[in-house]
Amino acid sequence: VALWTGLTFVGFFTPIRDLFPNLIAWQLSGWETFWILFYAFATYGNAGYLREQVCKYMCPYARFQGAMFDPDTLIISYDQARGEPRATGKKREGLGDCIECTMCVQVCPTGIDIRDGLQIDCIACGACIDACDEVMTKVQKPLGLIRYSTANLLEGKPSRILRPRVAIYAALLLALMLTIVIGISQRKLLLLDVLRDRNALYRVASDGRTENAFTLKITNKQRESSCYDILLIAPAALQLSKRQSAVCVDGRSTLAWPITITALQPLASRQLEFAIALQSQQDPELRRVENSRFFSPIEGSYETK
Ligand code: SF4
Ligand code: SF4
Repeated sequence: VALWTGLTFVGFFTPIRDLFPNLIAWQLSGWETFWILFYAFATYGNAGYLREQVCKYMCPYARFQGAMFDPDTLIISYDQARGEPRATGKKREGLGDCIECTMCVQVCPTGIDIRDGLQIDCIACGACIDACDEVMTKVQKPLGLIRYSTANLLEGKPSRILRPRVAIYAALLLALMLTIVIGISQRKLLLLDVLRDRNALYRVASDGRTENAFTLKITNKQRESSCYDILLIAPAALQLSKRQSAVCVDGRSTLAWPITITALQPLASRQLEFAIALQSQQDPELRRVENSRFFSPIEGSYETK
């Protein structure tokens, strides 16, 4: 399970369809191997070895929850007025309903005794409620010795559900959900990066033309494969070869597409701004434009070799 978690995590950052065949063929890159083993180790360490220590000392949930509580908050509570004095034995006169069976402590994943009051280690799993209800059923007492209740109710005071903090938390939650919905609806279905060839700023061909090499990194986030026109938005002196001006990318994948831009005549300056537009052939509305620069040797002339 730990290894599977590692693979799934790494699959977020590298094409997951290639990851499994590469793993079987022992052809994973060094970084992929490192991060798969790292996440597998972290998963095994947290879920297999540290277990409840993660809940007690590492998870911020309990601390966060504690800061949001007030006396009207529903919490898992032991009814002291009903349960105390606790004791074992069949003679129950003068005793509370708790028969000291310790089932609530035994089932608790963080090993706490809820009868000592609400503690920061409680992860509100409710296991102690179920365990105690089973015991109460067996001893023919009313259920709910441990139950969801509020501090005010347990003290016999009135408790309110609707209060300002509930409205504030609900508004914050709504704002968060709206942000997520807007983020998903505005998600870009097409990404484009124009990466310059790192080996050479420019290349002068045998016929004297200057060439700049780029790699287009095209990410198609749609389910279906899609074909795109690659349009060069630049002065007429720059040209993109026709055979490089269209590309098809599989659904949910990224493609590296090498292109070469050529200056047909000497340029007036060493640098020339241009843009690459990627436009879907199926849906012309789906379009991405990225800017870059073309470099030539010497202002107004070609360097010939
Ligand atoms: S499970 Fe219920 S009866 Fe048993 S010790 Fe806990 S509170 Fe008491
Ligand atoms: S709710 Fe879960 S974590 Fe909290 S005391 Fe009960 S069993 Fe333990």
